[in-house]
Amino acid sequence: MRLIADGQPLRELSLDIPPITPRSALVKVAAAGVCHSDIHLVSGAYDLGEGRKLSTTGGGTVLPLTPGHEIAGRVERLGPGTESSGLKEGDRVVVYPWIGCGTCRKCLSGRENLCEGSQRFLGFMRNGGYAEYVLVPDTRYLVKADGIEASQSAILACAGLTALSSIRKCALQPGDLLFLIGAGGVGSTAIQIAKKVTPARVAVADIDDSRLELATRLGADYVFNTATTDTKELASQLRKVNQGRTADAVIDFVGIPRTASLGLRLLGHEGKLVLVGLVGGGMQLPLPLLPILGAEVLGNFTGTLAQLTELVDLTRRGGINPVVSESYRLEEANEVLAKLGRGEVRGRAVLEP
Ligand SMILES: [Zn+2]
Ligand SMILES: [Zn+2]
Repeated sequence: MRLIADGQPLRELSLDIPPITPRSALVKVAAAGVCHSDIHLVSGAYDLGEGRKLSTTGGGTVLPLTPGHEIAGRVERLGPGTESSGLKEGDRVVVYPWIGCGTCRKCLSGRENLCEGSQRFLGFMRNGGYAEYVLVPDTRYLVKADGIEASQSAILACAGLTALSSIRKCALQPGDLLFLIGAGGVGSTAIQIAKKVTPARVAVADIDDSRLELATRLGADYVFNTATTDTKELASQLRKVNQGRTADAVIDFVGIPRTASLGLRLLGHEGKLVLVGLVGGGMQLPLPLLPILGAEVLGNFTGTLAQLTELVDLTRRGGINPVVSESYRLEEANEVLAKLGRGEVRGRAVLEP
């Protein structure tokens, strides 16, 4: 399913299987997660507010392109020079899609997701997983995922990884209260991960009661419907359960002016607001607030290969159980993207070629 032109629906095409190259692996796709970023990719831009736009891929994308960056499947073929990769044909893998230039400071320190050079992100600049096969340029980007359902391991590559990485940025201590805004694909995964890898209690906000019910089932300590609870009331409820403090850290998985403003309002002293969601828009920042509180506003974009490996291991040991709510045929990609855009997907939807 290919993007031929910005803003146009993806088109179903029949193409040759990409030829294998040295060090590469051809993966037969079993599941490809449908992420909100794919909507931005198809539209061609992020909304920065005040009418300003940012190209989704900084001009690095050459169309036509196959989207899809949450990819799991089986190794179909291995290229020359992969003998020491520890992989063999048939192995079940999840693909790390955030592939950088390999030579910049960020890449050399293992943070390819923040590559300063020519990014090669699969599904953004290179062909991704909305296909039967994907060519991964180096076997080092494959993480063995035996024992995990393909649909579940696929969504670790963006939803899970983004959740883990943003939670780590909160540096939570025992007794802290973590406040998550948005219980969609990333947020619902974050609840389980936060309960597993931090000592904090977890509060979750959403505007949809069915997503909040899911949040409770996944282990949220407190849930709030922000469509029916105003910010002042919410702050007072948090103070009641958090020894007079509001939130010690907030992660905004939505990223619209209303959610980011809510996050700021709920920050306490030395609180951290981590912005993750890319839905878009701009906001006014009350300038004295951050210095007076000694608070921090941070951004997070996906995570590292090492973190994906850690997450796959955590999932295999039963630590988390990623929520895949719906699966579709590859040809239904456009319908799934539309459904996601309307906010009608609970958890994560995957395409299964
Ligand atoms: Zn994504
Ligand atoms: Zn780089």
